[in-house]
Amino acid sequence: MKIDFANLQKHYQCYKDEIDTAIQAVLDKSNYIMGEEISELEESLQEFTGVKHAITCSNGTDALLLAMMAINIQPGDEIITTPFTFIATAETIAFLKAIPVFVDIDEETYNIDPSKIKAAITPKTKAIIPVSLYGQPSDMDAIQTIADRQLKTNNQKLHIIIDGAQSFGSTYKGKTDSNLGDISTTSFFPAKPLGCFGDGGAVFTNDDVLAEKIKSLRLHGQTKRYHHKYIGMGGRLDTIQAAVLNIKLKHYPKDLKLRQEVAEKYNKILSTKNDHLTLPVVKNDRTSTFAQYSIRVQNRDKIQMKLKEEGIPTAVHYPKPLHLQEAFVYLGYKKSDFPISEKIANEIMSLPMNPFLMEDEIKYICKNL
Ligand SMILES: *Cc1c(COP(=O)(O)O)cnc(C)c1O
Repeated sequence: MKIDFANLQKHYQCYKDEIDTAIQAVLDKSNYIMGEEISELEESLQEFTGVKHAITCSNGTDALLLAMMAINIQPGDEIITTPFTFIATAETIAFLKAIPVFVDIDEETYNIDPSKIKAAITPKTKAIIPVSLYGQPSDMDAIQTIADRQLKTNNQKLHIIIDGAQSFGSTYKGKTDSNLGDISTTSFFPAKPLGCFGDGGAVFTNDDVLAEKIKSLRLHGQTKRYHHKYIGMGGRLDTIQAAVLNIKLKHYPKDLKLRQEVAEKYNKILSTKNDHLTLPVVKNDRTSTFAQYSIRVQNRDKIQMKLKEEGIPTAVHYPKPLHLQEAFVYLGYKKSDFPISEKIANEIMSLPMNPFLMEDEIKYICKNL
């Protein structure tokens, strides 16, 4: 058997007629930049998430930049986040010459551990960026409580920006991930749960003032044509990508449900078969998009090699925590600063995950594992 990890080709084939028509319509109109498909998509995203403002943009990395620029992050400002994430989360902080301040993760969910945040707050702290890793929201109530308390006792506003690049459509206590914090971001990179056919992203907020600013920032800080209020960026989503997403979003509830069913099947088979594996834990008050189905194993290299021989691709998200990356040496962290992140990075391994994974494929993967 030969298993496909994300099966993007199948996804296209499923909706080919609709997608081809939607792309052709953009070509026929040649409305490549900020065409009507963009506002159509933004309205659908608002409806889907329940958030007041959905602002599409060039990718999930720029979505983070736009969010931080909107709250006026300045050089030297400190932003608390997790070292166990994709580089973009902290890279964008550093790009603005602000300082990523890492806090270790929870051993069960692999998300930022709220109980360790307080000790990392200084007078320079401006924001907290929880990452909804593998698609599961963080302990948002606990994080919000920390921010609220800091405002009350120290008159210090800590913005909460959720890096929801992997979690579009997941929920926390019944609300979508995009609806939490002050600003939430996502990515439409092809392999994310809701992916387009290139780069794409979005920023979400319920705050009217922030929304206006983010819309302006993605268009070079302009308020009307050739009048620029802010230093912004060229951060728009392409109309063609919006056209693709308009189709894929329509089918997304079904695709998301299929992903969750695949995860349940994995859970069911693997939990009865083996106690050498640590399976993903999704807390009762939230749902995950299962951007990845990641388990922990002890002899990862060997398992990956053996599975590959059997036609089963695996991946590691992520093998090296950010505080140990060469690019962040200047921050002065060292090995064993974040022992849980380091331990998980050594053990974590993602199995094939996509809505089209068949029962017999799942059984085959589990049997070989
Ligand atoms: C994918 C990802 C990003 C970046 O999104 P792009 O669209 O690739 O720029 C940011 N953060 C996390 C956690 C991601 O997984």
